[in-house]
Amino acid sequence: MAHTFRLHNTLTRRTEPLKLIEPDHLRIYGCGPTVYSHAHIGNFRSFLTADLIVRTAKALNWRVTYVTNITDVGHLTGDDTIDPSGEDRMARAISSQQGKRFANVWDLARYFTEELLTDWRTLNLLEPAVRPRATEHVGEQIHAVEALIARGLAYETSQAVYFAVPDFAGYGKLSGNTDSAALTQAVRDVVVDPQKRDPRDFALWKKDPDHLMQWHSPWGWGFPGWHIECSVMAQTYLGPSIDLHTGGEDLIFPHHECEIAQAEGLCGEPFARYWVHTRFLQVEGRKMSKRLGNFHTVRELIQEHKVHPLALRLALISGQYRKPFNFTLTTLRDCERLVHRFADAWTVAAEGVSRAAEGPDELGESLNSVYEAALGAMLDDLNTPVAIAKTLEGTKLIRTYRDKLSLDSARSATTFLSRIEDLLGVIQGAKVEETSDGESTAREPDLHISTLVAERAAARRARNWARADAIRDELQALGITLKDSPEGTTWQKKSTL
Ligand code: AMP
Ligand code: ZN
Repeated sequence: MAHTFRLHNTLTRRTEPLKLIEPDHLRIYGCGPTVYSHAHIGNFRSFLTADLIVRTAKALNWRVTYVTNITDVGHLTGDDTIDPSGEDRMARAISSQQGKRFANVWDLARYFTEELLTDWRTLNLLEPAVRPRATEHVGEQIHAVEALIARGLAYETSQAVYFAVPDFAGYGKLSGNTDSAALTQAVRDVVVDPQKRDPRDFALWKKDPDHLMQWHSPWGWGFPGWHIECSVMAQTYLGPSIDLHTGGEDLIFPHHECEIAQAEGLCGEPFARYWVHTRFLQVEGRKMSKRLGNFHTVRELIQEHKVHPLALRLALISGQYRKPFNFTLTTLRDCERLVHRFADAWTVAAEGVSRAAEGPDELGESLNSVYEAALGAMLDDLNTPVAIAKTLEGTKLIRTYRDKLSLDSARSATTFLSRIEDLLGVIQGAKVEETSDGESTAREPDLHISTLVAERAAARRARNWARADAIRDELQALGITLKDSPEGTTWQKKSTL
């Protein structure tokens, strides 16, 4: 069946079919976390939107190159409209009570990056192809600022280098924020710079020889502005034009508006074709905040309420990403019951495969159409509530066949559940099975796989991302998924029950 993947594009304000730059290859960049503290469940709701886009694209057999960054420098509170005090988030964190545990700001960034990765895996989010850190791409950011100056789109003052907004015609096309002098004045003029030409101009580089994180640049010691990191890292890994860019709704302005100005100013080509933004999560009907005591991290919710991590994942995707979303503990408990039912369906199916007698496939047709309906819902602007309802329908059907499954029906049931797991990531048990050390895989294919994994590692070290991606795809076709970590890459083969 021919499928069309439709998503709401903030840029055009319409829900549109995705037309990729390169057919069947999605290049997607998602704004990642600022690692000054533990990420909260609101952050993860935004990361989950990107995760679901990637999963849905893969369900269409598209090749996906997914890049999501780590912001470990330069994100000033003044870059957000919410908190315009102009303090560096990392610097503020190190001087806080919590920050006293760390030797320095680098140590703090490393710690919270690791914590983020743990939560990421806990919630069963897919690994990106690359997870670049801003601090590891300062050279590229300096080059980009130099290029913008050379193109007449940026200028230096005694305090900073600014992007000259009036010289870029497209500024405002994403947010519609074209003549909001009052707002931009309030947000940007935290540090008063009399040499700044226009209140909308934003900093690409801040001169600050006293800053905790600083680099040497053609403009002296200082650090990059927050917005430049994402333009540069997206273009480094995905090319000058990308298909899709994601983030929370707060990033539409100024962060993404500024990303467009920089990226298009640098290359003269459209930057991202589609911009997908996740509506802010609320908790028990209110904005999440430490002061209100409704601020939740992934680890704290799971430990305190003794729920399965997938229950939290399910709860966070239970509302469509663009609709107002109210997270409640009642939803979490309901989702806990659901993930246990899903897991039970997997047990029924897996037991059927190992014990059932030969017999006709009584489930295949129904489960296929339930899966198609779930996929159809995801293709329709990530309609997760319907996709989850379909999952419940399929798992219910499987459970009514407990101890009655024929071998072929059991196989259809496992196929259904693993496809749903690939699509939504909520079926405990249907996850890939570790076999890299296992007995089940024949020696020869193992050797072939290990060779490919090693070859891919070499390609990644050489920053040959195209080759690395091609190998990943080849492995994927063999049913192998790779897990990259600072310790190296491990691989897993899908269970062949
Ligand atoms: P930050 O760590 O502040 O850079 O944010 C990381 C991501 O989380 C960004 O895409 C934000 O837009 C997003 N985000 C922050 N708060 C929320 C929330 N309450 N609901 C949904 N997304 C959020
Ligand atoms: Zn970003």
